[in-house]
Amino acid sequence: MSDQYDVIVIGSGPAGYVAAIRAAQLGLKTACIEKLKNNEGKGVNGGTCLNVGCIPSKALLDSSHKYHETKQDLASHGINTGDVAIDVKAMIGRKGKIVKQLTDGIAGLFKSNGVTALFGTGKLLAGRQVEYTDNDGKTKVLSTENVIIATGSQPIDIPVAPLNGDTIIDSTGALEITEMPERLGVIGAGVIGLELGSVWNRVGSKVVLLEAMDDFLSMMDQQIAKEAKKVFTKQGLDIRLSCRVTASEVKGRGKKEVVVTYQDSDGNEAHETFDKLIVCVGRRPYTEGLLAPDSGVNLDERGFIFVNDQCATNAPGVWAVGDVVRGPMLAHKGSEEGVMVAERIAGQKTQMNYDIIPNVIYTHPEIAAVGQTEEQLKQAGVSYNVGIFPFVASGRALAANETDGMVKMIADAETDRILGCHIIGPSAADLVQQVAIAMEFGSSAEDIGMTVFGHPTLSEAVHEAALAVNGHAIHIPNRKKRK
Ligand code: FAD
Ligand code: AMP
Repeated sequence: MSDQYDVIVIGSGPAGYVAAIRAAQLGLKTACIEKLKNNEGKGVNGGTCLNVGCIPSKALLDSSHKYHETKQDLASHGINTGDVAIDVKAMIGRKGKIVKQLTDGIAGLFKSNGVTALFGTGKLLAGRQVEYTDNDGKTKVLSTENVIIATGSQPIDIPVAPLNGDTIIDSTGALEITEMPERLGVIGAGVIGLELGSVWNRVGSKVVLLEAMDDFLSMMDQQIAKEAKKVFTKQGLDIRLSCRVTASEVKGRGKKEVVVTYQDSDGNEAHETFDKLIVCVGRRPYTEGLLAPDSGVNLDERGFIFVNDQCATNAPGVWAVGDVVRGPMLAHKGSEEGVMVAERIAGQKTQMNYDIIPNVIYTHPEIAAVGQTEEQLKQAGVSYNVGIFPFVASGRALAANETDGMVKMIADAETDRILGCHIIGPSAADLVQQVAIAMEFGSSAEDIGMTVFGHPTLSEAVHEAALAVNGHAIHIPNRKKRK
């Protein structure tokens, strides 16, 4: 096969593999280079999301939730289970099988769409050329009309808690824990820290999250974040805000433990000892060894590849998508950018709507958001109306014993157009997607209010929150009474 392509994608995470498939669908001769290897040392597609991110974390969240629910909740339904035990190794093994099925699936999709999968490392040279070093170390230069960089991100490590692959690990290591740690520390109470902390809290670990910031989930609507903190604390997560970790020391001969030093919320030095410590302090763009000095691609001041709204870099014919560029580090954001770029390369005028990207934390209950928060609207000086519907007033939520949380809908005070929706509650991820679709079509709160919702569903909480925006909710007292 000739080494001349229309499109070469570097990285096969959700941004890269989706871009490659869409480009091939559009008739472009496409190759995708991926450096990641699986536990057997074989090249594997799917990136962070499928291998060490979204999917394996959700597999562990689902397993641990079932265990916890069986232990704590089934009795209230009149189901007697007797003693319940969890086999952590089996839970991790199941997760591995799911990852394998999905990553094999990408290989199948590449084949059926005619994408050439190349395992090894890609480096961008000048003039739309890509140096490809395969997993045996052989190097060749590939020519292409377009390059799509989709090299993603990596966990940030901090010198105060250096990873050792055993007692101090990052999110990737945390997906391979095969024995329940009695005492688990998590640095960073962000999205990933909360998800991984929840897994082990449900399994039975005593989990402490140390978070440097004063606000909990500062990017979320703060009313929802407050409710979340209350619910998680009730679940047993020990979330300590304004606590910055300053040092850590591994101690012990046989069974090791980690002593963490941190500055507590009063500014005093404090210590806590853990069997394992997970460092979840964020992710950084992955650009090591990627760009030759004369590639012509610029980075921004935070190290992300600099792109415009259409994901074009400043080198002609070179695009970049996903976690390696600005914007939220979310799989679906990267995938949509991948589609946009493939279609633009094929001559279409595709644009992406960055204002409507749902964002979910897969705790139980889930937290999900789309659009703007009340804090953002206040700061922008926009006048708005809010409608809130608590799940405790939902018949379906009550039947399911899932009454924590609420749907909060925000609409423009003048036009009634929906500006944001923030949910903590059962199936929040799927509920918020309904509002995302409505927002994409420019819906008002009244439009949702006039839509017929099936009964009894959790979705009725979305309906009622939309009605509440204008004081028309039926199943709760309205804060604003309007005709
Ligand atoms: P990646 O998925 O990081 O893929 C990039 C790929 O490029 C990697 O496989 C890498 O090996 C490869 N690569 C890098 N450099 C080179 C090179 N020079 N040559 C060849 N290959 C290269 N997001 C969500 O939306 N929902 C979630 O529930 C969610 N949960 C998460 C849970 C965890 C624990 C983590 C860590 C992340 C989670 N994320 C979630 C974030 C999500 O995984 C990322 O946003 C997403 O994977 C980014 O996709 P990407 O394609 O840009 O990059
Ligand atoms: P996220 O960006 O959602 O993954 O969250 C990472 C969190 O880690 C942020 O809320 C940071 O404030 C927090 N963080 C970063 N460094 C430290 C530290 N040394 N001690 C405690 N928390 C930290």
